[in-house]
Amino acid sequence: MHKLIMHIPVVNSILFGILFILMSAFSACSQVPESTNTEIKTNAMTVNKTDDEWRKTLTPMQFNVLRQKGTERPFTGEYDDFFEEGDYYCAACGTLLFHSSAKYNSGCGWPAFFEPSDSTNMLFKRDLSHGMIRTEVMCARCGGHLGHVFDDGPKPTGLRYCINSVSLIFKPSPKEEKHK
Ligand code: FE
Repeated sequence: MHKLIMHIPVVNSILFGILFILMSAFSACSQVPESTNTEIKTNAMTVNKTDDEWRKTLTPMQFNVLRQKGTERPFTGEYDDFFEEGDYYCAACGTLLFHSSAKYNSGCGWPAFFEPSDSTNMLFKRDLSHGMIRTEVMCARCGGHLGHVFDDGPKPTGLRYCINSVSLIFKPSPKEEKHK
């Protein structure tokens, strides 16, 4: 029966047609996007780069945290035990995120702030990973992962923005001129 079918040209054409369609379908399904970060892109974001482009401007650690939602080890970050006066910007795109006046020592092992400089510079997303219910904080301009926000912070907001140091760039406030 098999040999009979293979010698009928019309049936062969149909079989090859079905085979071609199946191969095309498989090929399309296998083209999985390299980055899962596409899911967080929103209209609010104005900086959209590919992973390859981000790798050219970020350190491997910054890329892991900002683009792959990694977390730096506690008590290791540059700004954990750091309380200079100035502003903190997104390490990926330079957007203003926090001022030092909102920074406090939470003892959690990461830089903690009780409020952002401008909440519209941030995106918030429900995060159910690692068996926890958390609120992820991202940069609104580039979508970079910053950390999470919790409701166990100090007054006046009662919030704790727990942020990775590598997601931040600190710029000190200009020193006041000393008059002689
Ligand atoms: Fe950013």
